[in-house]
Amino acid sequence: MIEKEVNELIQWDADHILHGAFPVGQTSGLIVESGEGIYFRDIKGKEYIDGTAQLTCVNLGYGQQEIVDAAYKQMQKLQYCTTFLGISNPPMIECGKRLAQLTPEGLDYFHFTSGGSESTETAYRLARFYWSTKGSQKFKIISLYDSYHGIALGSCSANGLGRGFFSRGAGPTIPGFIHIPNYHCYHCMMGLKYPGCGVACAHFLEEAIIREGADTVAAFVVEPEHGTAGSVAPPPEYFPIVSKICAKHDVLLVVDEVMTGFGRTGKMFAVEHWNIIPDIMTVAKGITAAYFPMGAVAINQKVHEALKGGMLASYTYSGHPVGAAAAVKTMEIYVRDKIVENAAKVGKYAKDRLEAEFKPLPCVGDIGGLGLMLGIEIVSNKETRKPFPLEMNVIPKVLKQALEAGLWMRAASSRIAPGDRICFTPPLIITTEQIDRMIDILYPILSGLKPL
Ligand code: PLP
Repeated sequence: MIEKEVNELIQWDADHILHGAFPVGQTSGLIVESGEGIYFRDIKGKEYIDGTAQLTCVNLGYGQQEIVDAAYKQMQKLQYCTTFLGISNPPMIECGKRLAQLTPEGLDYFHFTSGGSESTETAYRLARFYWSTKGSQKFKIISLYDSYHGIALGSCSANGLGRGFFSRGAGPTIPGFIHIPNYHCYHCMMGLKYPGCGVACAHFLEEAIIREGADTVAAFVVEPEHGTAGSVAPPPEYFPIVSKICAKHDVLLVVDEVMTGFGRTGKMFAVEHWNIIPDIMTVAKGITAAYFPMGAVAINQKVHEALKGGMLASYTYSGHPVGAAAAVKTMEIYVRDKIVENAAKVGKYAKDRLEAEFKPLPCVGDIGGLGLMLGIEIVSNKETRKPFPLEMNVIPKVLKQALEAGLWMRAASSRIAPGDRICFTPPLIITTEQIDRMIDILYPILSGLKPL
């Protein structure tokens, strides 16, 4: 495409399209046209490694012809079918069956959605509905500071990330959502140090439930690894502790696996790291590896039994047959091609290199995360752990330099998160050689940062 046409597209985009997480009336100027494997290409023909699987959703990379064919075939046969009024379609049923094979034991009952926010929204609704079937008044939802659960109004109310970003312009958010300290050890909200802290943040959940009144708390909703906050994994004791607390106080445990699900952390679902099984689990992104917008909510038998005979609110595109066909093929590939095993193996390789080579750098404060959901914390000073002042534009400059060198990355910004963390979350099909290429690009950029 000639320069003039490209510039016209960029200008029209800036003038007419409202982008997420970018100032209205502007664009970055990057227009992506095609992709293959872990690479995408812009309309000028320049190729980039997709270092974060876009929004940590392009789990199988680009150009998976089998998924394309499955979706195309289904679109020709039946492009849409509602799931309202008890109506079904074969791919949706097949998708449910496959999900049941992959989800943790007992999470065998599903409601389909079109994405992550719809899944988490449905989860809060199901949790409250569950308690109402018991004649209970339990309605409060406890979540973590710096968590991200989407942008529907319920999700915005649950989000602890953002320093007000998700409630600004949407507020007041919904009453009954309570926030407690997260498990971000590098920026411990309780001013403690792991492991001497005894994982006080996990025990704080019990304190919160008691103070709120256990008979008012419906659910605890939690990411198994903070994603949007920059790939922050909990200490290993965290989930076993909160899982026990939830069971003790009759609070439903809702685990939000929208980003972590389908191999991202080196297990099919992140909860498998700690052998815990939630009552409700939300998924999206990886379910179709971003070949179609789709999500699901999985519930256990206890919740399903209570809801039986009740009527759910739902979405026009719940159980969309094309999305379901794409999901069936995607899940087949995860298992057949040992994608989860690859994420674990290559993720360990990447983390070992990042820890050995990046952590000693003067402006890298922390390396964290599980599998291929890794975070690199950029600090202005290792002692204070403080980010660079926003007005210095350090992170945008780092990302721009990477982009110029052919690597697309994104970062959690200290504008909305505790620190600046580069999200190192490439497609799960990535090889160790391709990890080396990412690292070769990033290293000189990060080693060039000077502490304050
Ligand atoms: N939950 C988690 C944990 C997420 O990471 C996200 C998105 O990043 C969502 C929910 C929202 O998903 P969506 O953007 O598909 O609505």
